[in-house]
Amino acid sequence: MLPFKLVYHEGYDLRLGQHVFQSQKFGMVRDALLAGKIADRGDFLSPEPATDEDILRVHTPDWVDKLKHDKLSIAERVRLEIPYSQAVVRGFWLAAGGSILAARCAIRDGFGFNIGGGFHHAFPGHGEGFCMIHDVAVAIRRLQADGALQRVLVVDTDVHQGNGTAAIFAGDESVFTLSLHQENNYPDPKPPSDLDVNLADGVGDEQYLELLDKALAEAFRRFAPQMLFYIGGADPYRDDQLGGLLLTMQGLQERDALVFAEARLRGLPVAVAFAGGYARQVEDTVGIHVNTVIAARECAAARLRQGIDA
Ligand SMILES: [Zn+2]
Repeated sequence: MLPFKLVYHEGYDLRLGQHVFQSQKFGMVRDALLAGKIADRGDFLSPEPATDEDILRVHTPDWVDKLKHDKLSIAERVRLEIPYSQAVVRGFWLAAGGSILAARCAIRDGFGFNIGGGFHHAFPGHGEGFCMIHDVAVAIRRLQADGALQRVLVVDTDVHQGNGTAAIFAGDESVFTLSLHQENNYPDPKPPSDLDVNLADGVGDEQYLELLDKALAEAFRRFAPQMLFYIGGADPYRDDQLGGLLLTMQGLQERDALVFAEARLRGLPVAVAFAGGYARQVEDTVGIHVNTVIAARECAAARLRQGIDA
């Protein structure tokens, strides 16, 4: 049994058929966690879809209406890069509900995972790059509306810059956005995050971890969060089809461990969403996401040991 909860719903699989976004990965991660005895069934929680009220804290009424009632223009459909259907729309409402639940669990347990979500390319009034609804922003706005907390640090290590996150929280002093991504990649342009680390093509483990360490230190110098929301994309991986960095699976797990250790050192709850991952072998993407859960488990155990020693 894990010392934190994993939020998952089979509706996370958008059933896109032959598509580079293999959304079946979420179910595969769940199965791998169970088969590997990393988690048991009691560790999983099933989310409700977010309410429209939740979604509307981030997204415009116009965009929500278009999504709910199949009113997207051809240009809006093309920009999404995934086919439109009511089931897909429901998948995004579920992902947003899942990130809300994972964030609440994080406040209670120290960690909370959405085994999905991380749709950081969704903007208030449009979607793009496989993202209709920004689940992480919806969760942050819900926590703030509930008065659960106000100041959140978003750490995004997906290989693609978190343009939707940057746009949604631009000028908002309650949310600090940090994105570490490949510069020469989608999206273009990149609306500025509070801290952007633009990586050159081909950056590998050592340089990446060094720059991440520096970026986290700078973020914590500039901002005192009450929670860290981690968007842990699997696509900085060396064999990713949509990424141009060269991280190994080991390097990616060290990346996760570094983010978790820095947060827990400061007593911050950590909510996690998964975001991208397009490895040539979907099993690699699944393995990277599973390793993120293992990194959190090890971090939680280390903190517990320190607590006992203290
Ligand atoms: Zn990505």
